[in-house]
Amino acid sequence: MKCPLCRGRANSVASITVKHLVNSVNKDKVKNVNYGICLEENCDIVYFSTDNMFRRNDLKVDVWYKKDADPKYICYCSRVTEDQIIDSVINKEAKSFKEVVKITGAMKNCRCEENNPLGKCCSPHIIETIRFALKKKAINASGTSKKNRP
Ligand SMILES: [Zn+2]
Repeated sequence: MKCPLCRGRANSVASITVKHLVNSVNKDKVKNVNYGICLEENCDIVYFSTDNMFRRNDLKVDVWYKKDADPKYICYCSRVTEDQIIDSVINKEAKSFKEVVKITGAMKNCRCEENNPLGKCCSPHIIETIRFALKKKAINASGTSKKNRP
């Protein structure tokens, strides 16, 4: 499956996800078919089917991996952003998935099929973000210790 605009990579999502995430003006345009979701950061298209497409402006929420997404939600169900997850690791000593979930409140009332633009659970992306934050923290720590060396 390829995006009709950028010819980039795309995934398949169920119509229930699309229906839930487009704004009220576009709700009735969503048909009962599977849609594609464009995975390219720089492309304005989010959902597409053979006869229809929805751009970022047609949605109620921004898609985190699109360029300059704001806010950059990772857990859409609990509205937890990438910044909050990174902050919990760097400033609040969270080291594990469990601790991050506890601090940020992510993964509560999960209805990922309706809330997450990909229609999938956000947990793999939370884990990825924790790994990124831990790496960043380690780099920061080694940077400071070098600076503090006499
Ligand atoms: Zn695209």
